[in-house]
This record gives sequence, structure tokens and C-alpha cells, in this order.
Amino acid sequence: MKRIAIIGGGISGLSAAFELEQLRSDADLEYVLYEASPVLGGVLSTEHIDGCVVEAGPDSFITEKPWAADLCRQLGLGDELIGSNDADRKTYILVRGRLVVMPDGLMFMVPTKILPTGLSPLFSWKTKLRMTQELFHPPRAVDHDESVADFVERHYGSEMVDRLADPLLSGVYGGEAAKLSVRAVLPRFAEMERTHGSLGRAMLAARRKMSAGPRRVAPPLFTSLKSGMQHLAETIVTRLTPSSLLTDAPVQAIQPEARGWVVSAGLQSDHFHAVIVALPASAAAHVLRMASPELSAELAAIEYSSSITVGLGYDRYVREILPPGFGFLVPRSEGKRLLAATFVHNKFPHRAPENRALLRCFFAGGNAESVWSLSDGQIVGIVRNELEQIIGLRAEPLFSRVYKWKSAMAQYGVGHLERLERIERLRQQLPGLGLAGNAYRGIGVPDCVRSGREAAKAIVVTG
Ligand SMILES: Cc1cc2nc3c(=O)[nH]c(=O)nc-3n(C[C@H](O)[C@H](O)[C@H](O)COP(=O)(O)OP(=O)(O)OC[C@H]3O[C@@H](n4cnc5c(N)ncnc54)[C@H](O)[C@@H]3O)c2cc1C
Repeated sequence: MKRIAIIGGGISGLSAAFELEQLRSDADLEYVLYEASPVLGGVLSTEHIDGCVVEAGPDSFITEKPWAADLCRQLGLGDELIGSNDADRKTYILVRGRLVVMPDGLMFMVPTKILPTGLSPLFSWKTKLRMTQELFHPPRAVDHDESVADFVERHYGSEMVDRLADPLLSGVYGGEAAKLSVRAVLPRFAEMERTHGSLGRAMLAARRKMSAGPRRVAPPLFTSLKSGMQHLAETIVTRLTPSSLLTDAPVQAIQPEARGWVVSAGLQSDHFHAVIVALPASAAAHVLRMASPELSAELAAIEYSSSITVGLGYDRYVREILPPGFGFLVPRSEGKRLLAATFVHNKFPHRAPENRALLRCFFAGGNAESVWSLSDGQIVGIVRNELEQIIGLRAEPLFSRVYKWKSAMAQYGVGHLERLERIERLRQQLPGLGLAGNAYRGIGVPDCVRSGREAAKAIVVTG
């Protein structure tokens, strides 16, 4: 019988375990999952407070990437899937202390509708002129990676980096556009530049192609689960073999041996034919330090950023006075600590009763680090102070919760894809080793699900 160890019980490790559980019917195998903490699910964590579904970690996933929703359906959670309320989708950007709505037709930062962008106070005339000039950008075969900030600046200028690219990406990666790799983070845009030159023209061509095809109702941008993201992790666990799941079991090291791998956790060591390491890169680097110092060094070089989410519940009165829409983003240049706030009751109405307003506020990167050591009360105080400055909200919340996530969001720095090639070469020198998680090809939940399941399949087929 083939024995496989999975290290890490976040959504990546659980997805790998679920895949192995499916494959068990055809292959003679067993698995053991090691999780350092007492609970499974990693950053997927939900609290139910006063009728509200409060997400401590991820609140949803993008619908365009199918792997998380597919897994939900396979788990029988199809009825639990909910879409974001896109009829009310409106996102504001803080510009010189005032909220300005993002104009209609912006695809990330690429304008596809002239009138709303031309009339929007979000951009200066200088940036609007750059947008027109961008349409004449010639195709360009770039032979090296560059930062998202450099890429966007070349196309639209620095105001676009500050007001849109940086806050939008910080919301996903917790990092800065000046450090993130355009090839890893915005591969579609890098490809558009290569083929069309102008991102605006490429986007318009894609739209024309789509409208020539059969008319389809656009799916909601984001998908989630009615009762919260933790429910996904909990449901996977119900489908796994209970005796295969070890919690409170931090792995110190894994090492290759003659016919497989030894996994050392606490005072115990166990022998396996193969191992799937489903950990954040720094933890993966640590457990692999003796097996391959080179691989460990490459993994350790993938940076992570910390983040803090703050859930605030309010009464009906606040719900009535808050602006419509999904929430707002705060560019770095505004000098605030908050990066974003989501009006959850608008984005996912199922998550708050009609007489409640639910806000999810977000600190990331350096701003999260700067408030890290403060008490929850002090952090809530900072959030309330900034909410008052930004949206004039003075009301006392009915409840508040602070969730801190240390080094949980991978930063795909410039050169990330080249690093992944080196990692893959080094991994192949260690037969029976699989890698999964948010360090590699996608930080979101769908990509983590895909990476876990693919690693499991590959280990069974080849490992
Ligand atoms: C605040 C926040 C908001 C986010 N929002 C979204 C969102 O809205 N949509 C979206 O798609 N994505 C979002 N993400 C990203 C996404 O949630 C994560 O990238 C993904 O869940 C990571 O899953 P994972 O299993 O790879 O890692 P983790 O969830 O970090 O799990 C790794 C597990 O490994 C365990 N571990 C660590 N070391 C060891 C060891 N030595 N031995 C055994 N176990 C160990 C840890 O305890 C942990 O449980 C968000 C992330 C954060 C932090």
C-alpha cells in the first residue's frame, strides 16, 4: 500500500486529502495529514455573531476560476453557493479625502467605456490624456519581468498606479504594486501588451469577440458560501478518514530515505512513499531545509505579508446611512492605515439580517505591521477613527472582532516565474515530493484548491 503524507491542513492540504480520498477507490493508498494547529482549514475561518456571518480570513472567491466552486458542488454544497450582489456593485476610491466611485467599464485599470471614464473625477486630465494615448501603444515583446507599478506607469502614468493598481492589488496580495511581478500577477495584461501593445485596444477586441458570440448572462464576480468559507473546510473534513487527520502535529522536518520519506513531528517519525508539502513558503522552506538546502533557500525567498481584518456589526440606522455599493479602497497616498472596507450587507446580503450593517475592514503589509502589537480595542479605535474621517460613521458598533494573519499572503515579486522554474527543477530531483499552496501559481482559494488536487493526482500517478 502506498503511504502519502500531507503537511498542512489549510484549504490546499485539505484539497489534496480530498483528492486522495477520491483516488483511494482505484489505488491502494492511505494518507496522513499533519496540521500544526488544533483546527483544520488554515485561514478559512468564520464566526457567526448576532445573525451576521463574519469572515476572519477570505470572504469569497472569484467566480472566473472554477476550482473552488467545482469542489463545493462535488461536496454537495451546490445549494450553499451564493454570488455577489453585482446589481449593487459599486466601489469607491478615496481621493483627497473624498470617496469617488470607480467609473463603469473599468476592467481592473483598463478603461473600456469612454464616457464614464472621461467624466470621472477619479482621474486628472493628464491621466485621461494618457488613456487616449495608450490606445496607440505599439506591441512590445518584453524579455524580462518588471513590477506591476512600472508596467502600469508605462501605459497610464503614476496616478493610475497610486489610485487603482496599487490599492486593488494590495487588497488581494497585501503587497505593493512596486514589488509585485506583472508576469505572475497580471499575466493576461502582459500577454495583451505583447500581442496588441495597447491594453485598451486588446480589451475592446476581447469585448467585441465576446459580444459576437451567443448572449450569456454574466455570472457574479465573486462566489461564496451562505454560511461562510469555513463551511467548505468543515465539509471536506467530513469526507476524510478521521484517523488520517493529525491536529496539533507540527512537522519539524521531512527527509528523503531509500524508498520514500521520513516525516518528523514532535517525538514521532513516520515513513511514507511520498509527501505533499501544503504550507506557506517559509514553513515549507523550514521543513525541507535538510532534504534540499537549495530548494529551501528558493522557498524562503518568496516573501509574505501580514494582514488584519476587522469585523464590525451595526444596527439598521447605520445600514440606512452608509453609501450604496460594495465598499471602498484607500490609496497609499491618502495617508491612512486602512486599506479597504467592504459593506458586506450589500456585497453578500445573505450575510447580515436586514436590521444589521456588517463592515469588514482590512489592513495589509506595512500598515498591518504598524498596528500589530496594539490591543484589539486600540485597533478597533483606529478603524473607527478612520471610518469617521472617510464616511462620517460615528456610531458605536454592536460588536467588533479583530483577526490577525501573520505572513499569510504570498507576494509574487519580480522574477517569481523564473523562481518557480528553479523550484520545479529542484523538486523533480526529490522523487515523491509534491508542493501545493498559495506560494506558487495563485494566492486565491480556487488556485489553492487546484494546487492541492493537482499535487495529489501527480503524486499518485508518478510519485
Ligand atoms: C485575511 C485574508 C483574506 C483573504 N481573502 C481572500 C479572498 O477573499 N478570496 C480568496 O480567494 N483568497 C483570499 N485569501 C487568500 C487565501 O485565503 C489563502 O491564500 C489560502 O486560503 C491559503 O491556503 P493554504 O492551505 O495554502 O494555506 P493556509 O491556510 O495558511 O494553511 C496552511 C496550514 O499549514 C499549517 N502549518 C504551518 N506550518 C506547519 C507545520 N510545520 N506542520 C504542520 N502544519 C503546519 C498552518 O497551521 C495552516 O493551517 C485571503 C487570505 C487572507 C490571509
